[in-house]
Amino acid sequence: MDRYRRAFRQKVIPRYYRGSLHVASFVGIQSGAVILVGSKVHWNWEAVLIVGLSLAYATTFTYFLHRFLLHRKVPGLGWAHKMHHWHHTFYQSNSMEYEELDDVYMLLMPPWIQILYYLLYLPALALVAGLVFGSEVTLPIVFGLTLWYGIYELVHWMEHLPSGTGPLRFRPFQRLRAHHAIHHSSLKDKANFGIVEPSWDYILGTKK
Ligand SMILES: [Zn+2]
Ligand SMILES: [Zn+2]
Repeated sequence: MDRYRRAFRQKVIPRYYRGSLHVASFVGIQSGAVILVGSKVHWNWEAVLIVGLSLAYATTFTYFLHRFLLHRKVPGLGWAHKMHHWHHTFYQSNSMEYEELDDVYMLLMPPWIQILYYLLYLPALALVAGLVFGSEVTLPIVFGLTLWYGIYELVHWMEHLPSGTGPLRFRPFQRLRAHHAIHHSSLKDKANFGIVEPSWDYILGTKK
């Protein structure tokens, strides 16, 4: 595995890349966005309910995007398929853990996706949500989806930690990791597309 991973890193990771800067930009943008949007929300039980519903929407969206866009060659989205293919090629069910910080190149979304998420996807969604449901729901929805981005990245990262470290000392996280490890096996195009939680795999029969 060592030789395979060394060759993979040399082939795929650009020379200028620094995993430490990637992690710092993710944490910086993410915590800034959560604090900024969270401070604008008028918090009451309705806002909390809308945040919950937004998270339910987000996990559904992520399942379908993962299953039908990242595991298929969709015209115009070949780059997304290729990046996800790198993730599956570097991390396999018997080698789930990252070893060096630069290995997050094949794990975290690139910073430009995070920036597009906040500058394009969220404003567009906020606009549509505001038109459909009224302006008072917009900020809780944006907060829920802001929170989701961080939850998604952190849970997926946790699933690729070395066994028995950090949250992987606890049973629920071990189960989530085992669920994701099956997705990193030869069943990758067929099973366990839920990354943060497996509900859609149970509902649609893709749970293995
Ligand atoms: Zn993974
Ligand atoms: Zn996948």
